[in-house]
Amino acid sequence: MEVAHNQWAIFRLEGKVAIITGAASGIGEAAAKLFVENGAFVVVADIQEELGLKVVASIAGPDVDRAIYKNCDVTVEKQVEETVAFAIEKYGTLDIMYSNAGILGSTDSILDMDMEEGFDRTMAVNLRGPALCIKHAAGAMVKRQVRGSIICTASAASVLGGLGPIAYNTSKHGLVGLVRAAASELGKHGIRVNCVSPYFVATPLATSGMSAKGINNASGIEAVASSAANLKGVALKAKHVAEAALFLASDESSIYLRARQRAAHPPATPCRHRSDDRRRPPR
Ligand code: NAD
Repeated sequence: MEVAHNQWAIFRLEGKVAIITGAASGIGEAAAKLFVENGAFVVVADIQEELGLKVVASIAGPDVDRAIYKNCDVTVEKQVEETVAFAIEKYGTLDIMYSNAGILGSTDSILDMDMEEGFDRTMAVNLRGPALCIKHAAGAMVKRQVRGSIICTASAASVLGGLGPIAYNTSKHGLVGLVRAAASELGKHGIRVNCVSPYFVATPLATSGMSAKGINNASGIEAVASSAANLKGVALKAKHVAEAALFLASDESSIYLRARQRAAHPPATPCRHRSDDRRRPPR
């Protein structure tokens, strides 16, 4: 893929540096491509080295430095810390952490769940992993006074029971709590923390969950998703989720920067809110 620098293109992440975990596949891969298309430098962080290198090769094009692979198991604190240091050493800063890596994990029922392999492992990847990503990315941002953006991939299973296996469901509920708590703590440093919460997307993760039901291709998964979805006639793709993450990663989602832009370029005619009219004393 060639990053086309033409006069009409809008680069929403021009010059920004991002780490995307779980970027060797699915939603993370789509985000890595979209972020680079929008002018970012991306560290593709994953445990699937071969796939990750393929993603880098497919997005880098002639501008080979736009993306780079880094092996990073998000459950291992040292590796997350090293990945943040690697991004800063390679590209000079860190503006965006997209903590996206996740697993479906064990499909055990609560009645016979293996607590270590079934529960703790899912929590380690889906909840402890994002906590480590937030900790080390935010640490670097605070130290360097970067008003950065941290995004996590939560899920529709973050707000509804029964969507996916119980450990997965629980981890994604916990992730929204982590995002809320971190957002409230890090806001004073100008760091935004948000999540995207997709419904079914046909990725290897979703396929692994549906294969027991004999569904193992994208169209089969999309048909199941569509039958339960409110909005008919649309199949949710990894690219759609990546676009939501792109908005949250970009300055468009920053109230601070929008306020600064407004202060620098005030509207020619001040806008008056209707409620101001009602508060004005009668003449
Ligand atoms: P995917 O399997 O295509 O991608 C997940 C990636 O995470 C893989 O590349 C995998 O190697 C990586 N990963 C797994 N464990 C890791 C670890 N310990 N350290 C680093 N990387 C690791 O699946 P996806 O659907 O693209 O999943 C991305 C995120 O989206 C996950 O957090 C998932 O829970 C979430 N999500 C997916 C769906 C869906 O239907 N596909 C819906 C809602 C949320």
